[in-house]
Amino acid sequence: MKPAAFKYVQPADEDAVAALLAEHGSDACLLAGGQSLVPMMNFRVVSPAVLVDLNVLPTLDFVRSDGDTLHIGALTRHATVEDSATIAQTCPLLRDAVRHVAHRTVRHRGTLGGTLALAYPGAETPLALVALDAEVELRSTRGVRTTPVADFIRGGLDTTRKDDEYIRSVRMHVPPASSRSSFIEVSRRHGDFAIAAAALVLDTAPDGRITFIRAAVAGGTGAPQRLAGLEAALEGRTLGSSMEAAAIREAIDGIEIDGDPHYPEAYRRHLLNTVLRRALADVARRQGDT
Ligand SMILES: Cc1cc2nc3c(=O)[nH]c(=O)nc-3n(C[C@H](O)[C@H](O)[C@H](O)COP(=O)(O)OP(=O)(O)OC[C@H]3O[C@@H](n4cnc5c(N)ncnc54)[C@H](O)[C@@H]3O)c2cc1C
Repeated sequence: MKPAAFKYVQPADEDAVAALLAEHGSDACLLAGGQSLVPMMNFRVVSPAVLVDLNVLPTLDFVRSDGDTLHIGALTRHATVEDSATIAQTCPLLRDAVRHVAHRTVRHRGTLGGTLALAYPGAETPLALVALDAEVELRSTRGVRTTPVADFIRGGLDTTRKDDEYIRSVRMHVPPASSRSSFIEVSRRHGDFAIAAAALVLDTAPDGRITFIRAAVAGGTGAPQRLAGLEAALEGRTLGSSMEAAAIREAIDGIEIDGDPHYPEAYRRHLLNTVLRRALADVARRQGDT
């Protein structure tokens, strides 16, 4: 299949992107790495009248940290996130999540902004961003708005992005330097989207008590689910305590999960329990590592 005819535009700068979106609205599509958009255009799932190529805008491609905050541009490739020493030092959960995204060839083109805009269920990066309490910065001719990624993604393939907005960047507070993180996923084959995945960041006091915990899961959940109840239940407890398994079960029982003929609801729930338990065990095993 070939795409329907469209007008290809290289914007001069970000103001031009905002102006083009204001002018064309839902008739325009932004081209990032093209890893999803180009096949969707070829199959005519989408047929934009105007294609706005973001690849000519280096201002959208950056990774910066000021020590407390990590700031990543929307056009940053998955491979850049994977290779960045800054991200490895400040938010290794993000690097570990991205390593599960497709294969390296796809990661060379696919972008942070593209995966967020798409909000594909089972996508790894949005899950890590929800666990990290990240915020997404959206821009239009009306101005800039910032919203938590957890609110931005309403469900599978469903976000609060307006037709005239583009994703500019993602920003998050850096977790404590002594924290450990784990990203565990079950997928059909290496490089597939997750059937079930858990993202965890955790820090402990010298006596083993949990002083900081962020946990989220995805898989049959539509949008990634932050597990605030589990975090509250485990904070102050010793890592590896006997109540962990029951707290995990309660947290997973509390979220809505869609089943399908391939992955029935009970199976997804079982897998989500499993990946969360493995993530906690993984962090416990590395407790005290430097
Ligand atoms: C074989 C294969 C396997 C894959 N496996 C996985 C996987 O296991 N896990 C996973 O998470 N992903 C996977 N992907 C998806 C891929 O990694 C990309 O993250 C995803 O397709 C987004 O692609 P892109 O960044 O190239 O965006 P594009 O394809 O260019 O765009 C995707 C959508 O986002 C919009 N968009 C792009 N940038 C912006 C922006 N800045 N602001 C607003 N809207 C924007 C576009 O208009 C379009 O609607 C896979 C892809 C392929 C081809």
